[in-house]
Amino acid sequence: MTFGIDRRSFLKTATATAAGAMATRVLPAWADSEKSLVAVSLPLATFSYGDVQLLDGPMKRQFDENHARFLNLDDDRLLKVFRQVAGLPAPGEDMGGWYDLTGFTLEGNDFHGFIAGHSFGQYVSGLARAYAVTGSDATRAKINRLVKGYGETLDPKAKFFIDYRLPAYTYDKLSCGLIDAHEFAHDPMAMGIHEKLTRAMVAYLPEKALSRAEQRSRPHKDTSYTWDETYTLPENLFLAYQRSGKPFYRDMAKRFLEDDSYFGPLSEGNNVLPFEHAYSHVNAFSSAMQAYITLGSEKHLKAAKNGFEMLQTTQSFATGGWGPNEAFGEPGTGQLGGSLTQTHASFETPCGAYGHFKITRYLLRTTKDARYGDSMEQVLYNTILGAWPIQPDGTSFYYSDYASTGKKVWYRDKWPCCSGTFPQLAADYHISTYLRSPDGVYVNLFTPSTVRWKDGSGNYGLKQETKYPFDNKVQIRVSGSQAKEYTVYVRIPGWSQPNPVLSVNGKRVSGPVEPGRFANVRNNWKDGDLIELELPMPLRLEQVDANHPNLVALVQGPLVLFAVADSQPTFDRSALLAAKASNNATGDWLASSVDGSNVAMRPFMNIDKESYSTYVLLKG
Ligand SMILES: [Zn+2]
Repeated sequence: MTFGIDRRSFLKTATATAAGAMATRVLPAWADSEKSLVAVSLPLATFSYGDVQLLDGPMKRQFDENHARFLNLDDDRLLKVFRQVAGLPAPGEDMGGWYDLTGFTLEGNDFHGFIAGHSFGQYVSGLARAYAVTGSDATRAKINRLVKGYGETLDPKAKFFIDYRLPAYTYDKLSCGLIDAHEFAHDPMAMGIHEKLTRAMVAYLPEKALSRAEQRSRPHKDTSYTWDETYTLPENLFLAYQRSGKPFYRDMAKRFLEDDSYFGPLSEGNNVLPFEHAYSHVNAFSSAMQAYITLGSEKHLKAAKNGFEMLQTTQSFATGGWGPNEAFGEPGTGQLGGSLTQTHASFETPCGAYGHFKITRYLLRTTKDARYGDSMEQVLYNTILGAWPIQPDGTSFYYSDYASTGKKVWYRDKWPCCSGTFPQLAADYHISTYLRSPDGVYVNLFTPSTVRWKDGSGNYGLKQETKYPFDNKVQIRVSGSQAKEYTVYVRIPGWSQPNPVLSVNGKRVSGPVEPGRFANVRNNWKDGDLIELELPMPLRLEQVDANHPNLVALVQGPLVLFAVADSQPTFDRSALLAAKASNNATGDWLASSVDGSNVAMRPFMNIDKESYSTYVLLKG
């Protein structure tokens, strides 16, 4: 998402045509002097989706797969539940799975399902972001049809939500889809429908964000599922305010900030994560960031920063994934190591990675701290890039399994939450790869790609070529219609010890190139200049938690190497660290176990149906 947009660029964007989505933005945006709807302009901005193109590689493949999947999903099926409840003709097949009508009765009809239409807004959002990347006319036409079709089902009281199991949960996604349809596809109806929906939704929401403890104390007529996620609402409400200029959105966003039981304690350094639902509470960090951006609230910035640090230090696996059984555990109890024998639901992958990318992108933009980029790439390579693509019938990859031993499996229900976040995240790969500052460009992720921008009369760009993380070299070629002085910042991952090498046109740069920081090269850049990065990628071991010192993951650079075997292997520490690259198509390493067999150690993105152990045993 592109945040910090001001009134003038909002109007510019809103009047842009289809070609506008592909146009590059003028650098720097900071020159705009008109009054902004935000209190804080973050030091780093995202590029527009269309400024970045991914080239052949796994990230582009996931983006293309998701774009095609939802572009080709029948409109009537997507709109069916909304039309059914509105009493309109509702042709087309049922979607199935989570998407069909929930168990309620309307005008004598009994409906069954889980969370009807819950992910409709996310599919629209994913399409809108994909349109911003590709400028595809078919995609924009589909967004326009879906928004119009949804609008036709919406009455002034939003009766769809009468006795609805999770009104905030589904409203939040609809809100996001409509905002994105407006912002990225310039849909003419989306913000009007958004306002009508939001004003009606108030009747179905509590007076404030409710923690789970508070929800428990309020009996709900539907006792089968009483957890709604009111605490994630502010992010999109603040965005609706920024995009529309209407203060009622901002006031509603403030009302749903979960300050008493979550952001307040987090801002003071109290770890209140344990026992909370994992993904939605990480997602809520992005609401805190929007409170900082929109209102200038330092408390909410502290809450997001502290909360994220607690996530990393007390809840995370070596893969960067977190929240076994979708819950946070109590630090110091060995809960992560314990989970390896208790559950196969180790990390809710597309949703978790989506939330993780959002908060690390916000924090990176705020702090310019390269460690947030490190965390983003850890989740990228070890979780989401190993997710199987959503199937035409909605069958989806949901949990990564870190159990000893684990396996990749499909989720039992079709069209779950993770089918909604996956297309959004895959589009967001574009805005996560490069960032911009008033003085230059940040290279955050290493992947085959281009970024383009305009400055005055000049056109500039960078093109990355790399097989990273399966090769330790990255080449960045500079392009420009004329020579221009600016700074290229390159993330030097924290693990790249010792002596990462950065050079320009074959000459090593003189400034510091320190692991865990962005190296910067200020130059009068000319067309054809070449920046080269060479990162040491030593093998290292990471224990699952302090209570299980003999349960370790083998890690090389950003990649966790999973032991491919039907049972959890045991190694001598030195033998494991002496693993050798086996030079094959699956990126395997081979390590000799204590029983003398050679065990293949394989990155998650190259695992298919085989059994594996994320953590192996060290001989005690
Ligand atoms: Zn999910």
